[in-house]
Amino acid sequence: MTDIAGAIARQRHYLSLWKRHADRDTIRQAWSIGYADPGSTAPFGDPPDPTDRHTATSLTRAVADTRWIHRGACLACPWEGEERARRDEAIEDAHDHTHPGWRDLAIFERSRTGKAGAVWARHVRAVYPDRWFEAGGPLRLYVDPPFDRHEPGAAPGGGFILYTARPKKPQPDGVQLLLV
Ligand SMILES: [Zn+2]
Repeated sequence: MTDIAGAIARQRHYLSLWKRHADRDTIRQAWSIGYADPGSTAPFGDPPDPTDRHTATSLTRAVADTRWIHRGACLACPWEGEERARRDEAIEDAHDHTHPGWRDLAIFERSRTGKAGAVWARHVRAVYPDRWFEAGGPLRLYVDPPFDRHEPGAAPGGGFILYTARPKKPQPDGVQLLLV
């Protein structure tokens, strides 16, 4: 099993365990592509095809009855990230591999619809690197916590939306005084 690396090879192995009716724990403890992440398949589906360009996804496996670990991975090459407790951290690692520099991009509020939305979209494209979305690059948006799921396929070119918790507004002094 040590010769298996990369999202495609691991998903292939995972699906072969299902086909061979391996026992439940063996299946749960094998790395597979995270639920609904790029390249994920139904247990009896076909393995995904490799992509032409580096494409971020996640791998996950059970390490105990209720605990799962995650790591970033790529659908074009055997790259894999460090093991992480949270899937979103793994997805962020994967973007360090597929779209270096994403952590320096501007973070936007979600667009409004209609005419204002079109202006917003033009603004985002003007601020982000040229042809960023055409290269499958992620869009960074603020969101109110709690949240725990970067959204695959939701950026303008089909890449991820990567969420960042909106900074909390400082409490007015009066409110803090009341709490003391
Ligand atoms: Zn890659």
